Amino acid sequence: MAFTPIVDKEKCVGCEECVDVCPAEVFEMVDGKSDPVNAEECMGCESCVEVCEADAIIIEED
Ligand code: SF4
Ligand code: SF4
Repeated sequence: MAFTPIVDKEKCVGCEECVDVCPAEVFEMVDGKSDPVNAEECMGCESCVEVCEADAIIIEED
């Protein structure tokens, strides 16, 4: 099972909560928006999805 975090930059409000909560350090802020630069490190815990009040993150599973 592989997990791919995807950020909808139209929805992201730049709160950085996902950066803080992710145990795998997947996200970095780029131009004020969250970017899953280390997406391959995602382990599918969905903590970022739960913390994002803008509903800007989805985790794809394949
Ligand atoms: S938690 Fe959501 S709104 Fe906040 S920086 Fe991350 S993706 Fe953007
Ligand atoms: S699902 Fe968990 S490991 Fe994956 S990006 Fe979100 S917080 Fe990080």
